[in-house]
Amino acid sequence: MSSQAWINLAYLVASMLFIVAFKLMTGPRTAVRGNILGSIGMAIAILAACFEKPVLDSISTNGPWPIVLLTFGAIVGGVIGAIMALRYPMTGMPQMVALLNGFGGAASVLVAGAELASALTASRGTDPVAQLSAQANLSPWTQFAIATAFTGFIGAVTFWGSLVAFAKLEELASFKKAWTDPRRHLINLGLAITLLLLFAAVCANPHWTILYWLLVAVASVLGCTLTLPIGGADMPVVICLLNSYSGLAAAAAGFVIDNSVLVIAGSLVGASGLILTAIMCRAMNRSLVGVLFGGLGTTQVNSSSDDIYSGKVKSASVEEIAMILEGASRVVIVPGYGLAVAQAQHAVRELATQLEKRGTTVEYAIHPVAGRMPGHMNVLLAEADVPYEKLREMDDINPTFPETDVAIVIGANDVVNPAARTDPKSPIAGMPILDVDKARTVIVIKRSLSPGFAGIPNPLFAADNTLMYFADGKKAVLDLVAAVQKG
Ligand code: NDP
Repeated sequence: MSSQAWINLAYLVASMLFIVAFKLMTGPRTAVRGNILGSIGMAIAILAACFEKPVLDSISTNGPWPIVLLTFGAIVGGVIGAIMALRYPMTGMPQMVALLNGFGGAASVLVAGAELASALTASRGTDPVAQLSAQANLSPWTQFAIATAFTGFIGAVTFWGSLVAFAKLEELASFKKAWTDPRRHLINLGLAITLLLLFAAVCANPHWTILYWLLVAVASVLGCTLTLPIGGADMPVVICLLNSYSGLAAAAAGFVIDNSVLVIAGSLVGASGLILTAIMCRAMNRSLVGVLFGGLGTTQVNSSSDDIYSGKVKSASVEEIAMILEGASRVVIVPGYGLAVAQAQHAVRELATQLEKRGTTVEYAIHPVAGRMPGHMNVLLAEADVPYEKLREMDDINPTFPETDVAIVIGANDVVNPAARTDPKSPIAGMPILDVDKARTVIVIKRSLSPGFAGIPNPLFAADNTLMYFADGKKAVLDLVAAVQKG
C-alpha cells in the first residue's frame, strides 16, 4: 500500500472516531468516553498529517526545521490548552468554548492565507491562475479560490466574533452593554456588500494576496459589529452559532489544502453547531434570521426592581422551609447558574436523598439555557450522580408544576422569570420559562435580590407563594439537609 493510502486510512479511522465520539457525547453517561475517543481521533489525524507529501518535501528541502516547528507548535499549543482546561472553572466553560471557537477560526484563516502564498510561490514564472487551476485539479481554478476566500471570510468573522463573545461572557466592563446604535444595521449592510465585492475580487485575482488579507480585515470588523449588539440572555445562541462557523471555516480550509479529515471534522462541527443553534433558538423563542442579523436582547428594561419588590418579598428561616418540605409529597428542584457557582450539586443530591427517604417524590427541572452553556446543569448533576431519569426537560415538567407541592429554585433567575410570559416589553419576552410560579410553594435560594444574566428584576421573588432564602447555594442546601434530618 502506498504511503498516501496509509494516510487516507488513518484519516478514515480518525473520522469514524469523531462520529462515534459525537454519538457518545449525546448522553452524560457516555460523554467522557466520547471525549476520549474524539481526542484519540484528533491525535491520529495530526500524526497522519505530519506524513503528508508537502511536509515530507519541506523536510527534504529544509532539513529538520519543519519537524522542530511542528513539535514546538504542538507542545506550546498542548500546554496552553491543558492549562486552560485545568484552570478554568466549570462556570467559565462558555468563555473557554468561545475562545476555542475563535482560535479554530483564526487557524483556518492562517492556513488558507499560507496555502495561497505557497501556491503563488510555486507558480512563480508561470501563469498563477493556470498554476492554481492545476493545483486544485479542476479545469477552472474555482474550487481553490472560492474555498480560500470563504475560509478567510468565515474564519475572521468567527475569530473576532468569538473574542467579543468571550469579553461579554467574562462581563468585561466595556462589553457589558450591548451596542444599540440604530445605524448598526446600515454599517453591517455596508460591510457585507464590501465583503461580497472582495470575495468576487479574490476569486477573480487569487494571485493578489493583498485582496485576501483585505477580505480578512473587513470580515474581522463584521465579526465584531455582528456580535457587539447582542446582549442580555442571548449569548448561548451566539456561542452555538460561532461554534458552527468555526466548523464551516475548518471544512473550507480542508478544501483549500485538500485534506479530507478536516472537511469531515469541520462539517460535523458546522452541522452540529447549527442544530444546537436551532435548539437554543427554540428554547429562547428567537428566530435564526434574528440571530444572523444580530441586535438581539436589546429591548429596554420595562420596570425597576423597586416597583416589583418593595414590601412584597418574604424570606423564611431554614427551620420553616424544612417544615414545609416535611409536608410535601412532590418536590421539584430547579438548578441554575448559581448552583454551579456555589458548587452545590452534591449537597442538592444529599437533600433529595433525605427527602426521598421520607417518601417524597423528587425531580429536577432542567431549562435548556440554565447556567452558562448548553447542558450545563445536566453535567453538574451527573457529576453528583443524580439519576439521569430524574432530570426532566422543560416541556415535560411544566404541566406538572400545578401539582407540585414545593419548587426549590437554587441559583436560577432568568429561566424562572414569569416576566417572559407576562411582560411583552421584557428583554426575555417570549422566552419559554420553567413555570415554577404555578407550584403551591416556591422556595428561592440565592444570596440577594440581584438580577441574573439578563440584568432584569424577577417578579417571582415577590409572588405570594414565594419564600426567599438568602444565602450561598451550597451553605443553604447543607443547612436544609441538617434541618430536614433533625425534623
Ligand atoms: P441567571 O444568570 O439568570 O441567575 C443566576 C442567579 O444565581 C443570580 O441571580 C445570582 O443571584 C445567583 N447566584 C450566583 N451565585 C450564587 C451562589 N453562590 N449561591 C446562590 N445563588 C447564586 O441564571 P439562570 O441559570 O437562571 O439563567 C441562565 C442565564 O444565562 C440566561 O439568561 C441564559 O440565557 C444565559 N446564558 C446561558 C448560556 C447557556 O448556554 N446555557 C450561555 C450564556 C448565557 P445572587 O447574586 O443574588 O446570588
